[in-house]
Amino acid sequence: VLHNQVLDLKGTIRVYCRVKPLVSGQDDAKSTVEYIGENGDIMIVNPHKQGKDSRRVYSFNKVFGANVTQQQIYVDTQPLIRSVLDGYNVCIFAYGQTGSGKTYTMSGPDMTSQETWGVNYRALRDLFEISKERAEAIEYEVVKCPQNVLDLMEIGLKNRAVGATALNVRSSRSHSILTIHVRGKDLVSGSILKGCLHLVDLAGSERVDKSEAVGERLKEAQHINRSLSALGDVIAALAQKSTHIPYRNSKLTQVLQESLGGHAKTLMFVHVTPEVNAIGETISTLKFAERVG
Ligand code: ADP
Ligand code: MG
Repeated sequence: VLHNQVLDLKGTIRVYCRVKPLVSGQDDAKSTVEYIGENGDIMIVNPHKQGKDSRRVYSFNKVFGANVTQQQIYVDTQPLIRSVLDGYNVCIFAYGQTGSGKTYTMSGPDMTSQETWGVNYRALRDLFEISKERAEAIEYEVVKCPQNVLDLMEIGLKNRAVGATALNVRSSRSHSILTIHVRGKDLVSGSILKGCLHLVDLAGSERVDKSEAVGERLKEAQHINRSLSALGDVIAALAQKSTHIPYRNSKLTQVLQESLGGHAKTLMFVHVTPEVNAIGETISTLKFAERVG
């Protein structure tokens, strides 16, 4: 209960930072994450700088360390899923460079193992379970079981554009958006409530040069960077309660317009890999996240 209150007090945009474990076999390798505080602080060490310039603290609603389980991540996401059934529009984003754990957070490494299920599957399961609990009071949805949605999700994943880049052969060069519309009828008053959940696994945020992209790949990468910065601009404008929200600058923000701002709720997971050679991307990821939070 306390938890819910904390989330509500922090407004409609939340930013959670998740740190990926160091790649196995590199356990003694240096991590750029020096410290994670209970209160949402993370201290990053930049090995290219000296003295006090080398350390910087970034602050978020929460920071999850490398040993945090999928279940623990979900506990802090669940209140938003409930609010979809109360008629809110909710967007959950995974942001970060390729390989930082976006798909791990959203889908998980293996959908056949419930323990490692990501936010997507847990959210779907909850939507069905909570709607069943409320069945006496509210009548929801045409889709009758999570499997129907999971099947659609698999088709979407197969269609997702995946290009080979120098950074990662399976680097996903596209955003993936799963949208679930929920419609409920209050059986006493007859009123209709509508909610909507967007689960968004964003394309990798790494800068173009690192992927050594040329030709079509380069164009694609520039396009991705533009749409991610347009998303950042929209969320930052919302966070600052600006009167002009620049939704029209990208397809991504146009598609999600109804669910960004107004009474909608937004959660952004920003992913950080603690490897020393990722420091540049780590810092730009954290700066992006700080701006939208
Ligand atoms: P992205 O979608 O950002 O490109 P992935 O989710 O595919 O990154 O993660 C890259 C690799 O790291 C995968 O093999 C994934 O299973 C692993 N990984 C990511 N996050 C974690 C984590 N929190 N714990 C354990 N392994 C992880
Ligand atoms: Mg991915």
